[in-house]
Amino acid sequence: MIFYKTAQEIELLRESNLIVSRTHAEVAKIIRPGIQSLKLDQIAEEFIRDNGGVPVFKGYRGFPFTLCMSINEAVVHGMPSKYELKEGDVVSIDCGVRKNGYVGDSAYTYCVGEVSEEVKKLLRVTKEALYKGIEQAVVGKRLGDISYAIQEHAGKKHGYGIVRELVGHGVGRELHEKPEVPNYGKRGTGPKLKQGLVIAIEPMINMGTRHIQQLNDGWTIVTDDRKPSAHFEHSVAVQSGKADILSTFEYTESAIEKNIELTSLI
Ligand code: MG
Ligand code: MG
Repeated sequence: MIFYKTAQEIELLRESNLIVSRTHAEVAKIIRPGIQSLKLDQIAEEFIRDNGGVPVFKGYRGFPFTLCMSINEAVVHGMPSKYELKEGDVVSIDCGVRKNGYVGDSAYTYCVGEVSEEVKKLLRVTKEALYKGIEQAVVGKRLGDISYAIQEHAGKKHGYGIVRELVGHGVGRELHEKPEVPNYGKRGTGPKLKQGLVIAIEPMINMGTRHIQQLNDGWTIVTDDRKPSAHFEHSVAVQSGKADILSTFEYTESAIEKNIELTSLI
């Protein structure tokens, strides 16, 4: 069953998503070639706990870290490690926080140093597809309208592979609630979108084939052809007229800009 949220619950979800978004900004400040991915995870966990939150991925079905960190051909559910990020990597970082019993969930794909033009385009189109989906998250539309908008942009218009096995989801007291929010589908189908529905919309878009496989670490999902993949996610409350985006990339993106300025001075 779908749990529709009251206005008060939506404010609590916004608060948790604010911590998620500010955690991303902490990561964005220091991500650069040579940094260990595990270091980013430690900084994120410390920041979340200092702000009264709990990292919700840690311990989720046995996942041992605060962040999912999925590098290059990794789509999602990658694990932080001693690997040092290198120039040209792209890293999807997914973060979830629970505070006051409510969960925030948002992901961003970061460039490490200078990245190829074709990979930059993949990232840009994936983020655009996310916002095309969000535009549809209004009262009176159907769930399939969100899925269709993402598919049209990333798949039909740009020819990228759209991952089907993994989907967005309802979010509230639990990280994963009903309904599922696929990144492909038919418009005018699925449940009607009603006030109080809160969903995580998260296109996972591959440069090549849409097919994926799981590595034998039991977590990391990679593309079949090992070409890069991108992932952007917002938690969104359905509203009349215009969707209410509870997470934000604002802090992250201004931190990225500052980071680039500082790095260029070195
Ligand atoms: Mg997420
Ligand atoms: Mg999610």
